[in-house]
Amino acid sequence: METPSLPKKILMVASEAVPFVKTGGLGDVCGALPKALRKLGHDARLILPRYWGIDPAYYKLTWTVSPMGVQMGNCIIWCGVWGGEVDGVPVYLIEHEGFYGRSRLYDDGQKEFGDNSDRFGFLCRAAIQLCRDLNWSPDIMHCNDWQTALVPAYLKVWERHDGFFANTASVLTIHNIAYQGWFPYGKYSYLGLGHENFSSDKFENFGRINFLKGGIFYADHITTVSPSYANEILSPGGGYGLAPYLSRRYWDITGILNGADYDHWDPATDPLLPANYSIEDMSGKAICKKKLQNDFGLEENPKIAIVGIVSRFTPQKGFQLLMPVISSIIHQMYIQFVILGAGEKPFENFFGNLPNCHRGRVGSWIGYNNDKAHLIEAGADFFIMPSLYEPCGLNQIYSMKYGTLPVVRNVGGLRDSVKNYNEGDGTGTGFIFNDPTPQAIFYTMGRICGTYYDRWHHIEAMRKQAMQENYSWEESAKKYLEVYDKALIRRASWR
Ligand code: ADP
Repeated sequence: METPSLPKKILMVASEAVPFVKTGGLGDVCGALPKALRKLGHDARLILPRYWGIDPAYYKLTWTVSPMGVQMGNCIIWCGVWGGEVDGVPVYLIEHEGFYGRSRLYDDGQKEFGDNSDRFGFLCRAAIQLCRDLNWSPDIMHCNDWQTALVPAYLKVWERHDGFFANTASVLTIHNIAYQGWFPYGKYSYLGLGHENFSSDKFENFGRINFLKGGIFYADHITTVSPSYANEILSPGGGYGLAPYLSRRYWDITGILNGADYDHWDPATDPLLPANYSIEDMSGKAICKKKLQNDFGLEENPKIAIVGIVSRFTPQKGFQLLMPVISSIIHQMYIQFVILGAGEKPFENFFGNLPNCHRGRVGSWIGYNNDKAHLIEAGADFFIMPSLYEPCGLNQIYSMKYGTLPVVRNVGGLRDSVKNYNEGDGTGTGFIFNDPTPQAIFYTMGRICGTYYDRWHHIEAMRKQAMQENYSWEESAKKYLEVYDKALIRRASWR
């Protein structure tokens, strides 16, 4: 029998979270996990910056413990704090016009903001100050990626002689180790971490500051977003230079697969779809397919297989493997592509232009659009993710729920969540391929077409199986609670 965890006070510190602001899976996770923890009876709260695009009035937030003075290096920086409850979770948004009054989060569309270390270093110290001003001493400060990776260090360096945080443990979740927060040494003094922490086992990395590296040293426990990715980051290639430092923390690393927030991603209730559907009645999926073909300028035909893409466009996502073969696929197979993405220009240019070369067979939209993302998940038959590496991936989890079979490479969270099609008995929840090559994608497309046109009953069976998979946050949240217990034990031993 499971032993229920004692109620804990947990502060989720994040640079993005749904429903306020999101650039990728990080935002999905930081929005959904506190909600799931509260449902399990814990006092989980969320802190993030108030970016320009977030309207506090829309969420009925009011000024709370404002103004708040935050010590950075030798000076006190003042900020405002918006507070309120959204989706049942108490949230605090840090208002600082100079740092966060921008429409984008991390870059200006071309290059990263030059003051990111100040902005996110400040967020970390503000999270700690907020706890003091609220007189709320959390059991766990849960940080996410490099942007909030200084919290564990601040707790152990600045707050070590203070009883207020004596029992507060830190957990650092690595959502994508390729992003580590590197900054020039000139930015270091503002962070107030002391010269002794600029050493090669902590924050120093080839003469520069590395936020994530210091976080790995100081966090009481480290998690990443799937069990396979937890292994991959320990390898030289997968760790992006941090494998040796992670290996030292081997026993303090846990991989927990992300959940999906079915409040937002369920075809039976999704308000963004033209029709809802479920395993019992799939008729709405055909309506979604028709609208998808219509919206993306595709030939309207219920019989043709549609492959969907919703993604950030970075080399990590592997679309450079699809680019050389997509025209051959379209010429040789009866298939349509619907593409939604934004990111690096070569991808945007290629996929943005593709409908002009294959009228009626390819539709694309360059940019970020949540409504279209939902429609693609529902209206497509397949969903391709040829990632070179994938810490967890959420879209394959969403697409299974929508009966849209994922076509994925055998890495990270894709491997942990998708079950490969078995031609013998028609079981499986998607199609998995191994090699990071255009040929592998070409042959896999042949495989999905063969199944779609020649073994439709297998597609139907797989759809059912996929839609029955349960990746709810409740299960993942329980695993995080186990991790919090481990972090608290480690915290006690540090003292
Ligand atoms: P990552 O976090 O690496 O970007 P994930 O698959 O974990 O990848 O999560 C991506 C999230 O961002 C999903 O919720 C997906 O729907 C969303 N997303 C990505 N690109 C777009 C886009 N262009 N428009 C709308 N939503 C997008």
